[in-house]
Amino acid sequence: MKGEETEVELIKEGKRLDGRGFEELRHIKIDVGVLKRADGSCYFELGDNKVIAAVYGPREMHPRHAQDAKMAVVKFRYNMAPFSTDDRKRPGPDRRSIEISKVSREALDPVIMREYYPKMAIEVYAELLQSDAGTRTAGINAASVALADAGIPMRDLVSSVAVGKIDGEMVLDLNAMEDNHGEADMPVAMIARTNTITALQMDGRLTKEEFERGLKLAMGACHQIYELQRTALIERYSKSENKKEEE
Ligand code: ADP
Repeated sequence: MKGEETEVELIKEGKRLDGRGFEELRHIKIDVGVLKRADGSCYFELGDNKVIAAVYGPREMHPRHAQDAKMAVVKFRYNMAPFSTDDRKRPGPDRRSIEISKVSREALDPVIMREYYPKMAIEVYAELLQSDAGTRTAGINAASVALADAGIPMRDLVSSVAVGKIDGEMVLDLNAMEDNHGEADMPVAMIARTNTITALQMDGRLTKEEFERGLKLAMGACHQIYELQRTALIERYSKSENKKEEE
């Protein structure tokens, strides 16, 4: 749990150690449709986080007893590659990845029109190639775009970012140094257009005022991310349209 006093000075002369202002996101890069075998895919960079999301389906749900007669079942697997962390991460699921998979699925569930595909499965994978804190938010952003790329009917996109408290200040999008030595970390996922929060977690302690300020910061950033996600999808599909016209 966070909240203990730390020795590391994370803010110097009003700037964070990586030079960012308090309300600044890390750089974001989005590539849509990067995998040939998956029905939908997305490569997403958030600072030093690198993640690939792949979507399969809707396809037949196995095992059959896990089918839902009324709607599709969404499966989400978050996985960190062994080379994605400072020390080699032991391959395979652990408590943390099982928790993140569950939270990520719940963050996306409200936008997926599961009722169109009774008894089917929609499988979502988020593979972390490189991690630097905020991997769950990067995974949710990538998965949301990959779902749209797969043509899964969705009410909207989901966008996600973390806010946190470092050296007593509320800041946007913590990097690993800030996450490790900060006082609180709060990942948020939302449908930006309607300001609907679909997931929110908190590690550490915040006052009510800090929480409200953090949420406002996260909401503003999710709007920015939403625009980038939308633009990436539009670019991808206008490119394929142009290609078709040329043929
Ligand atoms: P998030 O990545 O969503 O912020 P955490 O707060 O649990 O989730 O993790 C913060 C960061 O700590 C990760 O992005 C990663 O860089 C690092 N980390 C997490 N788990 C491990 C692990 N098993 N081994 C090494 N580093 C890890």
